[in-house]
Amino acid sequence: MSATEEGELTVQGKVGRRGLILILSSPSGAGKTSLTRALREEKELGLEVSVSVTTRQKRPSEIAGRDYNFISVDDFLAMRDHDDLLEWAEVHGNYYGTPRRPVERALAAGRDMIFDIDYQGTRQVRATMGEDVVTVFILPPTMAELQHRLERRAEDTRETIDKRLGNARVEIERWSEYDYVVVNEDLGASFEGLKAILFAERLKRDRQVGLPDFVGGLLSETVT
Ligand code: 5GP
Repeated sequence: MSATEEGELTVQGKVGRRGLILILSSPSGAGKTSLTRALREEKELGLEVSVSVTTRQKRPSEIAGRDYNFISVDDFLAMRDHDDLLEWAEVHGNYYGTPRRPVERALAAGRDMIFDIDYQGTRQVRATMGEDVVTVFILPPTMAELQHRLERRAEDTRETIDKRLGNARVEIERWSEYDYVVVNEDLGASFEGLKAILFAERLKRDRQVGLPDFVGGLLSETVT
């Protein structure tokens, strides 16, 4: 028997695992997008990213289909009304939502997903997916740093930046609804923290399928 770097047991296929949903939330500018990207790019982690749909304008650096699927308000409302969204919310004056089908497919196959969504969406996912959800809130080290990061991005208008700064306080006040909190002072250290959370959550007893039989087998093994 061995434990892989991801923390999964590989006991000749005897112990499997249910997929989990890792949710990251934060105010804009706390570094959540960079962290989500870093987790996605570390392929050995085996995290599948949920690509949200949104009605907001694409930023120059974004790629449609990778960062978001950019759709019209009418198409968004149609998806919502057909129950095609696992959760949805209005954030900073635009609609955002998580398509349901890819999530259900991934979890059924025992794969883990990462969501970058706000606190309103987090509440909805927790209500419907319960124990399969692990939530992390990312905080900036200072409000001044949050403002610098928003301004440095230089892809948004002054009006958008001001709106996001105004909303940041409301979002930060939701921190206590989350399982874990990471203060993102150093991107590398925060990344390590997130991986530690993922590895530990994967080893939770209730997430491991087939443990009773495996332990039964252990105890009935004759050792000479
Ligand atoms: P941004 O416009 O900066 O990409 O995202 C703005 C906010 O919307 C972020 O807090 C982000 O987490 C949130 N968001 C992105 N996608 C979704 C989604 O599918 N559902 C919800 N509820 N929030 C989302």
